[in-house]
Amino acid sequence: MAIKRLLIANRGEIALRIHRAAHEMGIETVAVHSTADADAMHVRLADHAVCIGPPAAKDSYLNVAAIISAAEITHADAIHPGYGFLSENAKFAEIVEAHDITWIGPKPEHIRTMGDKIEAKRTAGALGLPLVPGSDGAVSDLEEAKAIAEKAGYPVIIKAASGGGGRGMKVCNSPEQLETLIQQAGSEAKAAFGDATVYIEKYLGNPRHIEFQIFGDGNGNAIHLGERDCSLQRRHQKVLEEAPSPVISTEERNRMGGIVAKAMADMGYRGAGTIEFLWENGEFYFIEMNTRLQVEHPVTEAITGVDLVREQIRIADGKPLSVRQDEIEFKGHAIECRINAEDPFTFAPSPGLVKSYHAAGGMHVRVDSGLYAGYKIPPYYDSMIAKLIVYGRTREGCIMRLKRALEEMVIEGPKTSIPLHQRLLNEPDFLSGDYTIKWLEEWLAKDA
Ligand code: ADP
Repeated sequence: MAIKRLLIANRGEIALRIHRAAHEMGIETVAVHSTADADAMHVRLADHAVCIGPPAAKDSYLNVAAIISAAEITHADAIHPGYGFLSENAKFAEIVEAHDITWIGPKPEHIRTMGDKIEAKRTAGALGLPLVPGSDGAVSDLEEAKAIAEKAGYPVIIKAASGGGGRGMKVCNSPEQLETLIQQAGSEAKAAFGDATVYIEKYLGNPRHIEFQIFGDGNGNAIHLGERDCSLQRRHQKVLEEAPSPVISTEERNRMGGIVAKAMADMGYRGAGTIEFLWENGEFYFIEMNTRLQVEHPVTEAITGVDLVREQIRIADGKPLSVRQDEIEFKGHAIECRINAEDPFTFAPSPGLVKSYHAAGGMHVRVDSGLYAGYKIPPYYDSMIAKLIVYGRTREGCIMRLKRALEEMVIEGPKTSIPLHQRLLNEPDFLSGDYTIKWLEEWLAKDA
């Protein structure tokens, strides 16, 4: 097998992240890019580059034929999809494999199962993961929906089977609203995902978002790398993530980690994955699984010392897991700030010329970003332009270092979310780790 030339089917900081792991393994890289990204850092650093289309993602980063052609003409023998774009597209994974190109990702059937939230929940339940109480599958009949909601207890949340990005979700407080909201959720889901299927769950009032990083070798072995706390969210978008979670004890981590690792082993899961839970009153409730690398993966890398992209490449290459569960130690604390090109108060996007740029440095400070002075942030894609990841032996030490690192960051030109992070790091609730998925929006609303 032995991958020699890896095509990176993505852009931005994650394309650079993958390039770095590949080069550290002696693997050549192929960047693909839209016309808007010709000057991007990952394109400059890659060994080969192919333009795959115009700026709109559907014509370039989602253009399967163009990406496969780029792999063929450059003789790439593997494709890494990063996150977003085609990373959770089972059909794409199958097409890659059908071309005898190594797919750096899970088995296509697992991507497909977990991409349908009803199937995912059913699978998770069968594998012994705790679920949010609710419907067993799709709901169509109103009487049946009423009975389910009654049993789960109001409020309930109506969710789209094909959902993503928080779309097609409706919170319902009483039986009178149920019919209207089911219809609304269904038509929103139909418009957004081409599938009107919805299901019902108990709505948890004030949970935390806690997710476990897992890795499988595809042959029945799997490990967990602990949890990340991603409760600080705005409109279901994560803003800052930390590992470990301030509320999960070593015993809980080992117990729940053991359960998710066993589930993945039983499934025969291959590669990196994330099992997302809501956590309330000491209980975990599975909500979904992401069959890909996550944006916030570096906080896990910081506290375990495992390079997750390197591990993905090794597994795809047919190698065994590089660490055993009993070799994984969770040491210290890590926090990631997502830095977006946007107004820190109104959140309006702020693309354009980066006049000057200076990345923070020093001990235990990592910046994953494709920025450089003179770079023009294109307006067509996600607004995240950098991730600042800081490690400390303790959470307090990590926060002190993070404040220091944020002071050092210079991004002149676009507005960025750095001032938002700086305010956040002075909040007593954040400092004490006392926050849930509702906290950030309530805090922002209070200020407005
Ligand atoms: P998506 O794939 O659209 O992001 P998720 O199922 O991951 O959907 O849910 C996204 C977010 O919606 C969660 O992080 C949480 O904030 C909220 N949410 C989802 N299900 C529930 C629930 N049962 N109770 C309360 N909040 C929920």
